[in-house]
Formats: sequence, structure tokens, C-alpha cells
Amino acid sequence: MSRKLGVPCECGAAWPGTRICHCIGCHRTFTGERPFDAHRLGNHGVDRRCATEAEMSIKGLRERAGRWYRPVGAKRTITEESTNECLAAA
Ligand SMILES: [Zn+2]
Ligand SMILES: [Zn+2]
Repeated sequence: MSRKLGVPCECGAAWPGTRICHCIGCHRTFTGERPFDAHRLGNHGVDRRCATEAEMSIKGLRERAGRWYRPVGAKRTITEESTNECLAAA
């Protein structure tokens, strides 16, 4: 299940700009694909899921004004997959 950019999610969220990622799994909004990718845990097709807020905090993600982002200079201790599942994850 995927949604086109700019089409509001069923949860009512809308987001401007093409770089904003909104997860249709947990309905959080991210400032880009990298923080979005960082909140997805587990393996594809196995136990892929969204991180809890505590887990996102551990990964260095921060939330402001309803947007999750990673502050510049945050440690990257977690291996990030460069998947392109933004807006297609569920
Ligand atoms: Zn999510
Ligand atoms: Zn949503």
C-alpha cells in the first residue's frame, strides 16, 4: 500500500514538500527519508516494524512540532538501510 506524495493520509495528516515522509504505519511525520528509515526496525518481510518513541530517542531522533528529525551531528550507531520505502511502508 502506498500513497502519492502530497495526498493526505487517512489519519488526517498532511505535509508540504516532497522531502517530508509520513509513515502510514505509525502515522508519524519525518523531515526526510533518513530519519524515516531510522525509525523502521527489523528485517523486511520478517519483523519489520516501527520504532517506539524510546527507540527513536536512542537512535538520536528528535521530535519538534510534530516532525521527527535527526539533529546534525547525531551519532550514527545504527546501521541504516537505504531503502526507498518512504510512504510505502506499513
Ligand atoms: Zn512508522
Ligand atoms: Zn497518517
